[in-house]
Amino acid sequence: KGTLYVVGTPIGNLRDITLRALEILSAVDCIAAEHIQHAQKLLAGHALHTTSTRIMPLHQHNEGSAVEKIIELLGSGKSVALISDAGTPAISDPGALLVQQVLARSLPVVPIPGANAALCALSASGLIAPHFFFYGFLPAKSGERQRKLAGLKTLYACILVFYEAPHRVLECVADMVAVLGTTREITFARELTKLFETIHTCALGEALDWLQADENRLRGEFVLLLAPAEEPGQEDISPQAVHALAILQRELP
Ligand code: SAM
Repeated sequence: KGTLYVVGTPIGNLRDITLRALEILSAVDCIAAEHIQHAQKLLAGHALHTTSTRIMPLHQHNEGSAVEKIIELLGSGKSVALISDAGTPAISDPGALLVQQVLARSLPVVPIPGANAALCALSASGLIAPHFFFYGFLPAKSGERQRKLAGLKTLYACILVFYEAPHRVLECVADMVAVLGTTREITFARELTKLFETIHTCALGEALDWLQADENRLRGEFVLLLAPAEEPGQEDISPQAVHALAILQRELP
């Protein structure tokens, strides 16, 4: 039976790809890619053959039918590499359904690790915490986004990691300020591995000004990281609540 390779590819700089990934992309019978042209650019950049018959589309609108075709190929002994437009497939990208279905048929899946925007941003953020929580994309609508952020507010010990589209960064940060307040720190990791790479940390209260100070800052791709926050102590709890807690502590066995 053929193997499905899940291959990490660059998040900007074409050279951020492993030797093993290049070997696999050169050797497989078929490459399932989010966008064919994007895949061809990657392959051409590394002097690998780009014949379009070797590349098939797998994106969020055709994943179901593509899965059937790929399972047939694997069943007939062909090898397939799954790639996305950037970074690691199945991480805020298509591919999870394919991997699930291939495993469900007891066919082999092999990960070929590579770049990932969230980990790249975390590694150079300078933020220190024992844990991080990867959220990915928040909802596009403000009300829903604020509700999700409110649900994450109590993960005080974690760095919170978000992906965001450039045209929504401003409104997303405005919602963060509205829900989480002004003191928590935010790191903007923008255009990682590219020419205009920027990594900037400031308090949420200063974040909107920083973003708007230069129109270029609103362009490109962003990872947003929220630093851990102080867990509210008893002093932040109302005196009535403290009193009620004291009574409960006395009364409970
Ligand atoms: N699968 C990818 C990964 O492993 O990181 C993520 C794909 S997701 C559709 C695209 C989002 O990742 C962008 O909207 C942005 O938030 C983030 N991203 C991708 N490349 C980036 C880069 N070079 N710099 C900053 N963020 C990036």
